Amino acid sequence: MQYINKIEKMLVKSLNEITLSQELIKIPSYSGYDKKIINFIKDYLEELGFKCNILCYEGDDSYKVNNLHAVFNPKNSKNIFYFAGHTDIVNEGDKNSWQFDPFAGQIKDGKLYGRGACDMKCAIACFMTAVKEFLQENKEPDFGIGFLITNDEESDGVNGTKKVLSWMQENDYNISSCIVGEPTNPSKFGEMMKVGRRGSVSFSLKITGKQGHVAYHNIAINPNSILIDILKILKDHKFNEDSEFFDATNLEVTAIESQNLGENVIPSHASANFNVRFNDKNSGQDIIDLVKYVCDKSMTVTEGAKSDYQLKSRISGESFLCEPKRLANLAKESLIKITGITPELSTTGGTSDARFIKDYCQDMIELGLINKTAHKIDEYSEILEITQLKDTYLDILKKY
Ligand SMILES: [Zn+2]
Repeated sequence: MQYINKIEKMLVKSLNEITLSQELIKIPSYSGYDKKIINFIKDYLEELGFKCNILCYEGDDSYKVNNLHAVFNPKNSKNIFYFAGHTDIVNEGDKNSWQFDPFAGQIKDGKLYGRGACDMKCAIACFMTAVKEFLQENKEPDFGIGFLITNDEESDGVNGTKKVLSWMQENDYNISSCIVGEPTNPSKFGEMMKVGRRGSVSFSLKITGKQGHVAYHNIAINPNSILIDILKILKDHKFNEDSEFFDATNLEVTAIESQNLGENVIPSHASANFNVRFNDKNSGQDIIDLVKYVCDKSMTVTEGAKSDYQLKSRISGESFLCEPKRLANLAKESLIKITGITPELSTTGGTSDARFIKDYCQDMIELGLINKTAHKIDEYSEILEITQLKDTYLDILKKY
């Protein structure tokens, strides 16, 4: 049994960035507790000489999650270069709509298909194999190499990266530089990396009016009219302009609902949901204050009645910028060398766990594959680009 295990470990160690990506895709690792994938990566890194800790957290109104911290630090340097990523995936949806089995890791016409391919199992495989190749030539690098892998980025994110980071701080693991392997390119590998992210705040607004006859609107309060006015004011409001690394702040209405009591009845309730993605010139609280102000000003009074509103808001992340430093410059050089493309430094896209890491490390970039098929049916990554990503990670490690 021991012997089989040894052979298995040797086989795993011989995987390249493509075959390793396939192995990771074959494990359907939904957000939460997934022993299989975290152990798979742990075994691989232990073979390379990493010291691994599986960190399991639960509580705080969320489910149990296992995470992996791994470090290779032969000289006990305070200078540790980290790779951060998530093994969890979003649901594959209707399996029958997929052209390829989402958990088979099939390759066709130069593309590797599967849930989690671009977001972001291939990037994890690329960093694992880049580190393996790097250590073959540099047995005792003068800096440490670390992995921070969570299985809960796509969902709650309560018992994942955030808690691992505070464990790392308690145990004196300092992040000197960090690459987050999220998919960052819109259509071609090498064209974009991220140096920050916009913030995000979501709202749910419910207006209470006064039910009445459409023919006697003056003695009713139509919540639909109030809601439409509020949404129009907020949508037209210019929060601020683009800045060097950020797009302008933008609001999108995601749902509108109202009672339908018949063609001659003004209903009593109407509600809407909307989300604001904001840049470094706003804070989540600024935007909440503005929305409240507009709601307050939009309330009306009629004979014996007054409209009212209920507003719920949730900030899922403030905007942040990591001014491009050493790592961003190294990555830029490597991308130009490997792809011939000069990457744009951007802050577009959704939030990621970089929002937690930025509190511990300012020399951080996000650099991964193409995000075009992330979370979609038939998610894939180009084989050629997976190898280019591995080569880029390797080149950065060599220059670091
Ligand atoms: Zn992701």
